Amino acid sequence: MTLNNISLNLLENGLDFIIRGLDELYVYDSEERFIIPVSQPQKDYKYGIIHLFAGFLLLLKEKLSRDTPKLIYRDFPKKSERLNQHLNQGIRPSTVDLHEALKRLKLLDNVESRVNFTESDMSVIEKIQDYRNTFEHYKIENIKILELENVIISFIDLIDRFLNEHLEINITSLDLSSEIRVKILSIKIIYDRIVKDSENAIKVRGKEKIKEFKKVRKSVLRKLYEENKIYFNDTNEDYDIFDTCPKCHEETLIFEGEFAGVCTNKKCYEYTPLTKCDKCGIMTQGYDWEETWCKSCDDNQTQMIEDNIDGDDLALYDFS
Ligand SMILES: [Zn+2]
Ligand SMILES: [Zn+2]
Repeated sequence: MTLNNISLNLLENGLDFIIRGLDELYVYDSEERFIIPVSQPQKDYKYGIIHLFAGFLLLLKEKLSRDTPKLIYRDFPKKSERLNQHLNQGIRPSTVDLHEALKRLKLLDNVESRVNFTESDMSVIEKIQDYRNTFEHYKIENIKILELENVIISFIDLIDRFLNEHLEINITSLDLSSEIRVKILSIKIIYDRIVKDSENAIKVRGKEKIKEFKKVRKSVLRKLYEENKIYFNDTNEDYDIFDTCPKCHEETLIFEGEFAGVCTNKKCYEYTPLTKCDKCGIMTQGYDWEETWCKSCDDNQTQMIEDNIDGDDLALYDFS
């Protein structure tokens, strides 16, 4: 038994418990084409909480061991001699409990590694510990489901933040089965965080694109007009090379090719994310992770609904 092995097991084991906990708490919907975020857990609270709590404690120990591996042991540093003896003899020494782990994380030698949970985070941790003890040791009575659900959600949020901020782990980039991935992505608080992260990443990429575009504006525009002319000569059809920019409302948004999403209006230069219409496949404004229909598909659908309503109305008066 080496210290390295132990610390590797802490992280893997901790993540395994967290994922198992989330798996217990959420249902899987294979029918939905798009992930619909849900704001509350839907099933086994008891096993969900027991697993999440166990996983969280292991993650705290992982953080401690990244600073100083022996910090996970209760006997360190005060009874180091006894601890070393145990380790040498292959006896598994006792590790710190939640209270001690939290205390040690606040006092790590490396100031930047220190973990200070806010008062409201601490209250969530205590409540979860309380539920977990109730589930494990007593009869489950008088538990208010709504309150329980809210505490679970806050705890999942806390774990997600802890993984990101203190262990540099994004739970959604782990190697997960597709079923569990869908479950995790459907948790609203995680879904919202991922959407925010993705939007920010797209914004950064957009800014770079605009910067690149400014350098080659003239030649890109000339090329686009040339392509348009050729298309028109071949087909005698109008071909929209630009879309309406949502910021300046001019027909200046490139929606194909290398600079797709760039507004060519010098007064605007805004970047707009583009994705494929989920109905017909042409480029349209929106994000990949949302169901997006282009304007013409959307208009067609609205027209169809209106026609149907008219049809129904007429049918009411059809006595033949
Ligand atoms: Zn614009
Ligand atoms: Zn479409």
